[in-house]
Amino acid sequence: MKSIQKRFEINFEKVSEKNFELNFENTKKDILNMHSEEIAKELPNEPSYRSKQIYEWLHKKLVTSFEDMSNLPKSLIQNLNDNFYISAPTVLNRLISEDGTVKFLFDFGSGVVVETVLMTSNYGYSICVSSQVGCKMGCTFCASHIGGWEKNLSSSQILAQVYHAQRDLEARLGKENKIGNLVLMGIGEPLDNYDNVLKFIRMLSDEYGQNLSQRSITLSTCGLVDKIYKLADEGLAITLAISLHAPDDDTRKKTMPIAKVHSMESLFKAANYYFEKTGRRISYEYAMIAGINDSELQAKTLGTKLSGNSVHFNLIPLNPVTEAHLQKAPDANIRGFAKTLEKFGIEVTVRRNQGTDINAACGQLRRTRNETGNNRARGVSNGYKILRS
Ligand code: SAH
Repeated sequence: MKSIQKRFEINFEKVSEKNFELNFENTKKDILNMHSEEIAKELPNEPSYRSKQIYEWLHKKLVTSFEDMSNLPKSLIQNLNDNFYISAPTVLNRLISEDGTVKFLFDFGSGVVVETVLMTSNYGYSICVSSQVGCKMGCTFCASHIGGWEKNLSSSQILAQVYHAQRDLEARLGKENKIGNLVLMGIGEPLDNYDNVLKFIRMLSDEYGQNLSQRSITLSTCGLVDKIYKLADEGLAITLAISLHAPDDDTRKKTMPIAKVHSMESLFKAANYYFEKTGRRISYEYAMIAGINDSELQAKTLGTKLSGNSVHFNLIPLNPVTEAHLQKAPDANIRGFAKTLEKFGIEVTVRRNQGTDINAACGQLRRTRNETGNNRARGVSNGYKILRS
């Protein structure tokens, strides 16, 4: 008995009041991460329609507080408050570019700091979300992996990026403004966080939630071949974008470590399987890097390999990342590359860079923040100043 008391005393001394609060919070469950069937299981004494109502409040009406769920009885609201929390980020930074692009730096606590970008185009609003904190893939031109991989995001943390951006958009420009497209092209490799990303896609396209058409969702991968096969069998209608960035294995290995694991031949086979199973045309991404992958000959090599396939090519002028020491290909090379691919019957788009004045390339904002040593304790305004200076 004495020894138990002693241990208790020691533990008690170590646990501050704040930690007590945090531990208490941690015992609550993340309700935004739950399908309505999962919510129903958590509330066995409630009528079944309640879980749908709660799901709609969370995922359609985008409330962030149980008190706002005005058609629920007080006792249920109390129960929800006692046992669940609604995942929502703290905004560490929010930058608006001259071209209307908005970039958010979100903090979900426990070191989960990620970027989200909202873009405007003739087709409406597109959002680019992150799927991991950091990245394991190590592509040399990309800022996301610098500092390594830290964590997978939960489905709710990916959803909460969209929901916050949607609320922000409505508050700025009015209720009628809706995000109509989503790309998983922020920080992280989505297929390396497979289960959470799949659940996120299903919840975002759920008719009781945002009901975003799966056809308006694009998942971008550096080419995890086994996962592409798995994704093809999921029965989803999303577009698969593959980051190719090279016409052959040797060139690809220079900038993308994944090329040492999967050959381009095996990647193209997986891509064909995805197309056959889903009927969705593959989109290829190709960052144009001076002297690495931008020559006429390389365009011909690529054209020969892909000719006859129903694919779409996105040529992306490299967004300079300080650490990478790589240069954007000259505009003339980008135009020439596009023309050559077109001669092989391939549809090509040259993507315009958006939000370069606010560090909108993958992982750059988070990176800038880490570099400056700015952290939560030093506050939001401090981070803003550093980024602007
Ligand atoms: N991990 C996924 C998605 C994240 S990046 C993937 O590799 O596809 C989204 C796209 O932006 C990828 O095609 C990626 O290669 C590209 N990208 C990353 N850094 C870039 C940069 N500095 N300039 C241009 N494109 C970049």
